[in-house]
Amino acid sequence: MAGAGAGPVFNTAVSLAANGRGGSVTRSLHFSWELGSSGWATCRIWDGVTKHLDVVSYCTNALADLLKGVTGLYGLYDVQRFSFDLEPAEARWILRRRGDNVHITIRRFPDMMTSFDVPDGKGTLEWTSTRPRTSLAHAVLMAAEKVRRTHGEDGYLRKWVLHPFPTTELETLRHLHLAADDCALQH
Ligand SMILES: [Zn+2]
Repeated sequence: MAGAGAGPVFNTAVSLAANGRGGSVTRSLHFSWELGSSGWATCRIWDGVTKHLDVVSYCTNALADLLKGVTGLYGLYDVQRFSFDLEPAEARWILRRRGDNVHITIRRFPDMMTSFDVPDGKGTLEWTSTRPRTSLAHAVLMAAEKVRRTHGEDGYLRKWVLHPFPTTELETLRHLHLAADDCALQH
């Protein structure tokens, strides 16, 4: 029978999220980046409904790539991609801008060494959510600032070894977020 099951509920949730006026629940986005033992960071994202966690390796300039990917959402292109090395897996983030919102998808590939050119659809869907760009940018900005406050730039380099703290990328995102997003949250 048409309309039975979870269909109508799902459609309502999507339309609330898409129009960006669903209140605090649909705008909610939490993100953290915590340096652990040398060369590893724990990356967590939570949209108030489902959580995702990856342990990311220092083989790539991961925090800089994240900041640059979110910064790209203020530019010409509607899709941004970047990948974290989970040694050996690849966690690929795909950000699609849709009006004021961003559709976030995280896909996993078993071996980073062989999956760089593999199409997104071949990866396992790990997490997805649609949130306002301002919520994503704010959450990532606050997380990166917390890393710098906690460790300092010298401490960051001691732990991440191969790459310095991404100061320029952080300041660029902050500038764009404050200029373009009309963010009412505290900075
Ligand atoms: Zn903000």
